[in-house]
Amino acid sequence: MEIIVATKNKGKLREIRGILRGLSIQLHGLNDFKNIPNVEEDGESFAENGLKKARFYSQFFGKLTIADDSGLEVNALAGKPGVYSARYAGIRASDQENRKKLLKELEGVPISKRGAGFKCVMAMVSPDGREAVTEGSCRGRIGFKEAGKRGFGYDPIFILPQYGKTMAQLSLEEKNRVSHRGKALRKLRKVLKWKLTKR
Ligand code: IMP
Repeated sequence: MEIIVATKNKGKLREIRGILRGLSIQLHGLNDFKNIPNVEEDGESFAENGLKKARFYSQFFGKLTIADDSGLEVNALAGKPGVYSARYAGIRASDQENRKKLLKELEGVPISKRGAGFKCVMAMVSPDGREAVTEGSCRGRIGFKEAGKRGFGYDPIFILPQYGKTMAQLSLEEKNRVSHRGKALRKLRKVLKWKLTKR
C-alpha cells in the first residue's frame, strides 16, 4: 500500500518513516515528485492546516495521504510562534533564522519562565473522503543557546528536562519516543493498522 506524506520537510519525513517502520506500506514525500502545487497554510489551528493539506493531496494523488502540521508554543510569548513556527522570522526564513529570532525575543527571560511545548496534528485522508486526526504534544524549555546537531527546526534550543539535553542531542529513536510527532503518529498507526487489516 502506498501512502503520500504531504510534506517537503526532510526532517519530518525521516521521523515519520522511523515511526511507521514495520508496516507493509510505501511512503512518498512531496519531494519524490516534480511540479507539485503548494497548499497555502492559512488556517488558525494545526488541525485546520493539517486537514487542508491531507484533503488536497489525497485528491491530487488519488492515494491515502498523511499530513503533519506542527509547531512550537512558547508560554512567555502567549503561545507564539504557534502555527507560524516555520515562518517566524519571515516567509522564507531558515530554521536557524527562526531560532535566532526566538532567542532574541526571550532575551532576559529567566529559565523558570521559558516553558514551551511542541504540538503536532496528524491528519489522514483517503481519496474516498475518510478522515482521521490525531494529536501529540511534548513539554520542555527554551534554552539560552543552541546545543546539538540532530533533528531540525527549533530542536537545538528545545530542552527536555527529563534528559537534561536538547531535542537536537537525542538520537532519532529517542526523539521519536518522546516527541509530539511520535505521540501523534503512534495514535495514527493504530488507525492505519486497523485500516490495513480491514482491507
Ligand atoms: P509546518 O508544520 O510545515 O507548518 O511547520 C512546522 C514548523 O514547526 C517547522 O518548520 C519547525 O520550525 C517547527 N517544528 C515542528 N516540529 C518540530 C520538531 O520536531 N522539532 C523542531 N521544530 C519543529
